Amino acid sequence: MSLKDYNLNELCNYYNIECSLPNQRIDYGIERFYKFRQEFLKLLKNTHYGSLKGFLQFQFDILPSLIKAANRIDANYDRKVPEEMRYALEILKESKGFIPLNLMRIPLELLHYHYFKKIPCKEPSLEVGCGNGIVSNYIFKGNRITVGSDPSILSMIDAKRDGKVHRHYIGIDGNAIPFSDAVFNTLIAVHSIDHVSDRKQVLSEMSRVLQPGGWMAISDLSEYSVSFLPLPGILQNIGYSDLGDDFIKYYFHNGGLDTIETKSPDWYSKTLTELGFEDIKISYFMSERLARISFLFFSFELLAAERSFALAYTNDRYLKKQIHSFAEEVYLPLIAEDPNICSKENKGFNLFVQARKKVNTRSNSYLEENILKLMNCPLCKGLLSIEKDYISCIKCAEKYPIIEDIYFITPSAAEAYRYILEQVGNKKIYKKMSLKKRILMFLLNSKVLSIFIYKIISFIETFPILRKNISKFYGG
Ligand SMILES: [Zn+2]
Repeated sequence: MSLKDYNLNELCNYYNIECSLPNQRIDYGIERFYKFRQEFLKLLKNTHYGSLKGFLQFQFDILPSLIKAANRIDANYDRKVPEEMRYALEILKESKGFIPLNLMRIPLELLHYHYFKKIPCKEPSLEVGCGNGIVSNYIFKGNRITVGSDPSILSMIDAKRDGKVHRHYIGIDGNAIPFSDAVFNTLIAVHSIDHVSDRKQVLSEMSRVLQPGGWMAISDLSEYSVSFLPLPGILQNIGYSDLGDDFIKYYFHNGGLDTIETKSPDWYSKTLTELGFEDIKISYFMSERLARISFLFFSFELLAAERSFALAYTNDRYLKKQIHSFAEEVYLPLIAEDPNICSKENKGFNLFVQARKKVNTRSNSYLEENILKLMNCPLCKGLLSIEKDYISCIKCAEKYPIIEDIYFITPSAAEAYRYILEQVGNKKIYKKMSLKKRILMFLLNSKVLSIFIYKIISFIETFPILRKNISKFYGG
């Protein structure tokens, strides 16, 4: 499914309009896996675990004990956990949303925090692909990022509502960033570049909008990530290699990734040098053991639940307590050791890439009050002008939608918006509008209504005068 169809789906959802599009980005051809999953769930119902919750409970009764026991006999178990990690875990505990209860997310975000906090987020800064902003809120707590962006319309609306670190939210497709050259001082992409089908295109756009001397920091899946997923290995070990391969596709599909391709440090080194970067530093993070443990839980969750992160939505207090104690006892020591383990073994589930744009020209970028002045049309680089409900390109006349005060300067959002307008016209499009807009519309309507009532009352009021005058005239 193209990004345009994806946006169209989101808009239909937003405006509460029927639209029958497949609910996936690309077709991975995993029909067989879906059948396997159905059979698995049917069989699960007949066991005494009975339900997803029971199944997850089983995991939390058995697997943590297994791993804790293994940890305790490990000679390295008594390693010192840095205060920073304890602090990070505290933030995770207090934060809402899916992070605190997802056993894949906990180590992943703790490690992201560890690496990204070293980057001075000098403004103007751009985060490419911030999604619904939950992860950024946590990783960049206390920092300010000038622009948070994502091509997903619904994610941007959520980010704007719950976001704490970004000054602006703009719908942006990393393949064609609608900003002028050398606008930003810092560029950040937190596990978002793994969602695009052409990494080099996005990196080249990032290089273009980065000032000479500016820093870029991104995280991505490494070339080892697929081989560290434990469930395919389990299926393969019991003789079902095909199902293992299918699971990998299912996993990537479920994560909304457009490709199952991964990149190595060598590829990054070569590509970033070509694109005019220097001081390139690349490190692996999330050791094999940490990744396998995390994804063991996540894989089962993905297999058993209708949606991923199902565990995150549970309100079971006992389960919550177990997850947190597990994170503290099992994850913290492993996370503390992670940079050492990864550099020693020279592999890891993820890559952290840091690079600086070569200084060869002078830059004169500044933080503009009107951000639109720094932007241009992603299709023709023309200037943009703001209209009532949309932003239009002065050169090619393309119209980009403004939804909940967020600009969506992506060709796919423009196309999806045009389609919606053609289909339903202006009347239905306000069906699912924001509270602010609804109140505004109500006031607007009631003003019209009150003028109308006022006119009627005044009209009626003229009657006695009229009657009086009439009788006077006739000498009544
Ligand atoms: Zn244009």
